[in-house]
Amino acid sequence: MASRVIAIDGPAGSGKSTTAKAVARELDLAHIDSGAMYRAVTLVALDAGVPMLDDGDLVVETAKGKGVEFRDVGSSFRPIVAGVDVSKEIRSARVTEHVSQVSALPEVRIWVTAALQEAVAQHPRGAVADGRDIGTVVFPDAVLKIYLTAAVAERARRRALEQGMDGATPDIQQLSRDLQRRDEFDSNRAVSPLRPAADAIHIDTTDLAFEEQVAAVVERARDYFA
Ligand code: C5P
Repeated sequence: MASRVIAIDGPAGSGKSTTAKAVARELDLAHIDSGAMYRAVTLVALDAGVPMLDDGDLVVETAKGKGVEFRDVGSSFRPIVAGVDVSKEIRSARVTEHVSQVSALPEVRIWVTAALQEAVAQHPRGAVADGRDIGTVVFPDAVLKIYLTAAVAERARRRALEQGMDGATPDIQQLSRDLQRRDEFDSNRAVSPLRPAADAIHIDTTDLAFEEQVAAVVERARDYFA
């Protein structure tokens, strides 16, 4: 039987996580943000000072030692380090700057992929998982695969809005450069690069309102999650 999973992949800032969360709520599924796990691993590696962040085995050992895991809270999975929810800490500029380097390490990808598969397998209803390789590698048998895109200027504008809400003064040009740098790195790495699955449905959200992009996914998912 195919995994009871909706896979949502796409570049940075395309609205994957917010869309996945809303779709999960609407269909009574759990939301799992795979990027949060890569960010949690990066956070502990930075805090531990793992040399150069280029030793995959060492990074994984550090993550295990620090108790990096997903916790099922019913409607979503939260990133945990040593028993504490680190959802806020993993959004720091420091983590964002280094996460692509860490997530390119094959040992890290193997470990995070297994954690994602285990977490979802234990969930009674199923999940909406978002990331870069969900439809291609983590859940290749997902019942529905979506590839979300949006023009880079629009993605930067949305990120700026999010940051503005936190009281930061966003620099749109800088945000745009950061998004493109990460996309390029994520698309060109050797292991599970960012790329749409052959059977993914592409949705360009540049001109869509948030509710429209959620509805576009929910509409296609109804048959599988009645
Ligand atoms: O989704 P988010 O932007 O938080 O992801 C942070 C980073 O984690 C990405 O830039 C990418 O390097 C990595 N990532 C990944 N594979 C995933 C999800 C995220 O490599 N499935």
